[in-house]
Amino acid sequence: MTSILPSSTQVLVVGGGPAGATTAILLAREGFDVTLVEKSKGSNTKIGESLLPSALEIFDLLGIREKVEAHGFLRKTGAYFDWGPQEWSFKFEDIAVNDNSTYTFQVRRPEFDNLLMSHGKTQGVKVFQGVQIKEISFAGERPVKASWSRGRGSEQQSGEITFDYLVDASGGYGLMANHYLHNRQYHEEFENLAIWGYYKNAKIKPIQPDNATITASTKDGSGWFWGIPVDDDLLSVGLVINNELYKARRSKASMKEVFLQAIADCPAIAEVVEPAELVSKIEIGQDFSYWAENFSGPGYFLVGDAACFLDPLLSTGVHMSFFTGMMTAASISSIFRNEITEERALSFYDRVCRFHYLSLMVFVSSFYHKMHKPDSSAQPSEFIAQMADFQKVDPQMREMVAQHMSSLLSLGEEGIRLAIEQEKKGLPASALREHHEKVFAQIWNGLFSYLPEVNGLGLCKKPQLGIFPVAQMSETVPATV
Ligand SMILES: Cc1cc2nc3c(=O)[nH]c(=O)nc-3n(C[C@H](O)[C@H](O)[C@H](O)COP(=O)(O)OP(=O)(O)OC[C@H]3O[C@@H](n4cnc5c(N)ncnc54)[C@H](O)[C@@H]3O)c2cc1C
Repeated sequence: MTSILPSSTQVLVVGGGPAGATTAILLAREGFDVTLVEKSKGSNTKIGESLLPSALEIFDLLGIREKVEAHGFLRKTGAYFDWGPQEWSFKFEDIAVNDNSTYTFQVRRPEFDNLLMSHGKTQGVKVFQGVQIKEISFAGERPVKASWSRGRGSEQQSGEITFDYLVDASGGYGLMANHYLHNRQYHEEFENLAIWGYYKNAKIKPIQPDNATITASTKDGSGWFWGIPVDDDLLSVGLVINNELYKARRSKASMKEVFLQAIADCPAIAEVVEPAELVSKIEIGQDFSYWAENFSGPGYFLVGDAACFLDPLLSTGVHMSFFTGMMTAASISSIFRNEITEERALSFYDRVCRFHYLSLMVFVSSFYHKMHKPDSSAQPSEFIAQMADFQKVDPQMREMVAQHMSSLLSLGEEGIRLAIEQEKKGLPASALREHHEKVFAQIWNGLFSYLPEVNGLGLCKKPQLGIFPVAQMSETVPATV
């Protein structure tokens, strides 16, 4: 039987979600030989529909911007929060880091993932759907060969493929972290699960800004909801709730009842779905929020959910997939072109991605902190120092993140303090709202537009994608997406 996969490739990418597709396309555009293997045939459903504005710059790098624009996904122009006693919204154009981050999209994920993979084919990626990677063989610590299979029974085909680099983009499955490295750690901060479903005829139109994601906490403070318009007439509604609390409620009611009771306790969502019809079954996702102890090692890179996943409060999942995909493609490109040693590239990749991930983690934790301890007087630096998951980080990285994030969170604290003072003085609600938006804009920019130089290295996007000593770069682009 002839093999459907080549017997060797420069880079094998396992998984065709946003992380795998981004890495593969960027590497192919740099001229390398890339094989991407995706086990599904493209028809499965997937959660993770709400993108961040950082996606636009990645679409440009991938050369897919026009196709995404033309596809008909909803254009998401901002976000709306109803969190504890505070309510605020912002338009991305008002907080944009640059002209290229003024909007984004709400996407139907299977279609979006297929669009990325199809585009990959046009960019030279060898894409194989319906093929599963079964086993990895190592030379010492270095993965060098994978076995694959396709189909079942008498139809089954299988074979082996050798490679120079393995990119594990297998998502929650965690091919490397779960099956070989055994180094996935679950966070203590977010012991949450999510249950979600889809509504037709919801009151999507009045949601402001246009097609914004609604993020709203329940009145009893037990959890929060997302409301994501994925279509003109389809709203994704999901509840994120503590594992133990869910178990206690579930012992007395069905999953659907728990979901509906929580909606009734969340006015911002109850109002939107009040006329609507639940048209899907309720699904559940557990054990999210984790990271692998190492994001890379000799001959391999972990990208997207295969490396790490953060509670979905800020919709950072696909953003991290793009980000880690871009950083991996830059790292491998520079190694292949002999611009940097593998050792330095691995260390750069691990540290720059961990810094970004940790910064987002601190920010998301601070939201939960406000939810669970609204009267806490802990200073941001104290709060960060007390975060359980932070203790596992090496001291140098801890210091870098703590410094960056305590200044951003302090900005938020100061903003709230001023708003309360002004409220006492009788400032109108509209002015207070404006004030919240301004503060949030500053924090958002700090979160998404800053990355440190790591060991003197930085990301360069043009004229070639790679990582270079910052001092040597002619056209440097800050390492952000
Ligand atoms: C409740 C919840 C809500 C979320 N909401 C959002 C949101 O609104 N916005 C957002 O940005 N993110 C959200 N996310 C996160 C988002 O879904 C993920 O971060 C994102 O899908 C990760 O992309 P990925 O490419 O890393 O992995 P995936 O999209 O999971 O892709 C991995 C691919 O690898 C394939 N694969 C696995 N094993 C193998 C193998 N052995 N061989 C071949 N193929 C294999 C799988 O079939 C899969 O297609 C949410 C997550 C959860 C749990």
